[in-house]
Amino acid sequence: NFVSAVVPPGEIGVKFDDVGALEDVKKALNELVILPMRRPELFSRGNLLRPCKGILLFGPPGTGKTLLAKALATEARANFISITGSTLTSKWFGDAEKLTKALFSFASKLAPVIIFVDEVDSLLGARGGSSEHEATRRMRNEFMAAWDGLRSKDSQRILILGATNRPFDLDDAVIRRLPRRIYVDLPDAENRLKILKIILARENLESGFSFEQLANATDGYSGSDLKNLCIAAAYRPVQELLEVESKGEQFGVPVLRPLKLDDFTHSKA
Ligand code: ATP
Repeated sequence: NFVSAVVPPGEIGVKFDDVGALEDVKKALNELVILPMRRPELFSRGNLLRPCKGILLFGPPGTGKTLLAKALATEARANFISITGSTLTSKWFGDAEKLTKALFSFASKLAPVIIFVDEVDSLLGARGGSSEHEATRRMRNEFMAAWDGLRSKDSQRILILGATNRPFDLDDAVIRRLPRRIYVDLPDAENRLKILKIILARENLESGFSFEQLANATDGYSGSDLKNLCIAAAYRPVQELLEVESKGEQFGVPVLRPLKLDDFTHSKA
């Protein structure tokens, strides 16, 4: 099982609304992917409006590329196949040809489908010279050949969506096949605020809790850093309650206190 996940559109559980900020990215993906997948008839004539077959999401770690990919599949009502570049090359290089053929024939049966290739640089990175593993090279060539094969067939509704933190490691052949490249940036304070509101949407917060203050105090944090910070904060009331209980000072039904700003003080990992 070389594919880490195959999920039908209704079961992904992430929508665009769950992705905070990144408004421009969502807008671009709407035009490039969602509309063509949901309304293929609008893209069937002429050459100008052609559905895009390859997109690269690049940017610092933890900025929400994987989250976006999943949400995109939900919004486009497409099946979602997720593979990881490093897993493909490390575990499966014995059978490159069989494997890629299986992947692509499987995908064409599932169309509309988004094939998400995380760490696309490790599968399709620049040619590593003599030190490169022969099997990795074969895998990459097979993958590209299968990908090209797809182009001539009914590839309208199959999208390869690559993600990487290391765009400079990709070679020209790959860059050419991913004609649309979208930068997924770290959030500024305004966007951190939007992300925090999503992450903390269902938490019990003290009244007057200042999202602004928290957003301003987290300069340089990615969405993933913010998530980790919030998880750590959410443990504080739990720890306090357990301490009280262990001292035998707890009477009645245990109640967790609301989260306050002070709970968010641990330093970024
Ligand atoms: P990497 O490059 O390290 O693989 P990534 O860019 O794919 O990271 P994700 O794995 O999507 O980042 O982000 C990790 C987690 O951080 C998400 O599951 C989500 O909980 C949170 N997160 C990141 N960005 C956002 C965002 N814009 N809005 C809401 N949550 C976010």
